[in-house]
Amino acid sequence: MSIESQILELRERLPSTVKLVAVSKFKPAEDILAAYNVGQRCFGENRPQELAAKAATLPSDIEWHFIGHLQTNKLKMVLPYASLIHSIDSLRLLEAVDRGGAALGKVIPCLLEVHIATEESKQGFSAEEILLLNFAAYPNISFRGVMGMASFVDDMVQVRSEFRSLKELRRRVATEHPELMEFDQISMGMSQDYHIAIEEGATIVRIGSTIFGARGI
Ligand SMILES: *Cc1c(COP(=O)(O)O)cnc(C)c1O
Repeated sequence: MSIESQILELRERLPSTVKLVAVSKFKPAEDILAAYNVGQRCFGENRPQELAAKAATLPSDIEWHFIGHLQTNKLKMVLPYASLIHSIDSLRLLEAVDRGGAALGKVIPCLLEVHIATEESKQGFSAEEILLLNFAAYPNISFRGVMGMASFVDDMVQVRSEFRSLKELRRRVATEHPELMEFDQISMGMSQDYHIAIEEGATIVRIGSTIFGARGI
């Protein structure tokens, strides 16, 4: 199926309250424009340089989301362009983004990435670390919610329970921190598991290969 028809089909399938981030990493401008031309405005990238290059050349009404592991020395290529950073996965990065926001005179909208999978390799905070965060210490960050990646397994019972734990963590943080006025986003679900993520309360799904095809890496 073409990129255009995949976008149109996803739009029919996703509840209107769920935001679709079209993950365009490794894909050329013409693929992004194909999606853009059927109305898609939100795209996700995971490499700072690629984000900066695409943001500089593609239509300015595109909303770019940064979804990859972010090194503090690459912030200059992300902070000016990203409308939402999904992947804040350490205190060190949190501090650096806060300082970077201050330097730009901006408050940076961020999600906290939570390690919900059983695999060691996935990035993110533990639930305990998030519950202990001193949110007030980062005045240049707007905490918008949580992001997680489920284990890469066929066992959808496990995937569902990981998504459920992320949803529960967001609820708990919002309850314990009523001062976080907009801590309402749950970014979870990719090509292989977004239907489960939606059933479990995702507000943002990040879908790449279903739309653009395999990435060949
Ligand atoms: C690549 C990527 C996606 C999209 O994955 P697909 O399986 O291609 O849909 C979603 N989230 C993150 C963090 C990614 O790196």
